[in-house]
Amino acid sequence: MNGINMLSTLPSIDEMLCRESIKELLVETPRNVVVREIRSAISDLRKRILKLNEEEKENFSINLDKISNQVITRSIKFTNMNLKKVINATGVVLHTNLGRALLSNEIKEEVWDIASSYSTLEMDIATGKRGSRYDHVVELLKFITGAEDALVVNNNAAAVLLTLSTMAKNREVIVSRGELVEIGGSFRIPDVMEQSNAKLVEIGATNKTHLKDYVNAVTDNTAALLKVHTSNYKIVGFTDEVSLKELVKLGREINKPVIEDLGSGVLIDLRKYGITYEPTVQESVQAGVDVITFSGDKLLGASQAGIIVGKKCYIDKMKKNPLTRALRVDKLTMVALEATLRLYLNMDDVVSKIPTLRMITESTKSITRRSEILFGMIKQGSGRLTINMTDDFSRVGGGSLPLEKLPTKVIVISSSNISTTKLEEGLRNYKIPIITRIQGNKIIMDVRTIDEKDYKVICEALDTVAHSIRR
Ligand SMILES: *Cc1c(COP(=O)(O)O)cnc(C)c1O
Repeated sequence: MNGINMLSTLPSIDEMLCRESIKELLVETPRNVVVREIRSAISDLRKRILKLNEEEKENFSINLDKISNQVITRSIKFTNMNLKKVINATGVVLHTNLGRALLSNEIKEEVWDIASSYSTLEMDIATGKRGSRYDHVVELLKFITGAEDALVVNNNAAAVLLTLSTMAKNREVIVSRGELVEIGGSFRIPDVMEQSNAKLVEIGATNKTHLKDYVNAVTDNTAALLKVHTSNYKIVGFTDEVSLKELVKLGREINKPVIEDLGSGVLIDLRKYGITYEPTVQESVQAGVDVITFSGDKLLGASQAGIIVGKKCYIDKMKKNPLTRALRVDKLTMVALEATLRLYLNMDDVVSKIPTLRMITESTKSITRRSEILFGMIKQGSGRLTINMTDDFSRVGGGSLPLEKLPTKVIVISSSNISTTKLEEGLRNYKIPIITRIQGNKIIMDVRTIDEKDYKVICEALDTVAHSIRR
């Protein structure tokens, strides 16, 4: 058959719709979705036919069952949620690609209530007048951090942008060369500053900046001194930086505000749990920093947000900046943030209630106990897989505490007849994707970031994957 004749044998959309398997599919799947996939399958086939050479044409035939199967698979995939739960077995607690901080189980009801009902988002119930969506968290943030006032925007990058645009537009901001952070997704502090129309004045060297460098850079056009917490890297060795206290003292002397981008925004002292010192928001407030910005979904453990706390005079100006409207947060962000901040009212058990903090501070003893349970469950049905358990380290991730290595236990999986990449791929493509680490020719599952309620799914996935892959 020649190519043109072959094209005339392609099925029509109606013909496909009449096939038994497609009719079955149509019981649950919207017709327009199925038609879309049939159209695309026929179009793919047409393109393929036109590319065939003479010899290939001889051997080519149209297989309607195969087309139907493709339509079914793709229609189901298209109707299923694309954004879905995964199991994070990487041990990276704040995994940016997997959604960073997890919300606490404790706030489930509050979040769903506000998401599915009308709410007091912008109404002051006492007076019946229009209220502000920020007011729900302002008192909480003031109480927890000790600051005079607060404002919330979409993320910390937006918080830095709004702060600089309000306080330093067309003026100079002095920042140390050791603090010109890139925060991921090739997003850099100097670029944010450029967008805010603040003029960056870099001082010092990468490893050392002295107080006199700041002093020498001050001009009539200086708007502020900026300190950026190098939360995602550390400069070690022959180094020197100006402490927050010294910087605030200088700011007072020259009558210029000090702004600090804290990044991670931790609200508790993690040293109590054996973790490296990470400056808290409260300490910066206490040191007298005028404006502090930090993330809601890093070490704070709430929704994605940029939190700004500091002196009322500056926050008031920010509220009037039109950018604030463009960067404003949704009610879902707000309810998750408010409910999470309320957990901080009881500092004694906040660590056990906020998943991010709980995972970071989980004791080796507890992790060992949990890994032994998972290890036992997997081992029983492991079949063709070799399962071991060993010591390893987890990471905090999300650009927080970059040097911290948290001792953990991991399940090590290997197979003599399934390649590691196939195994990893199989687990990643399971109905609830399981994201693992490959180390050498083994799969590593770190129990720190795995919830006990997911152990069964992991066992099922390993069983399914081990049996469905041939070499
Ligand atoms: C993470 C980080 C940011 C960006 O915060 P997002 O909430 O991701 O926008 C900015 N500055 C520093 C120092 C950070 O660590």
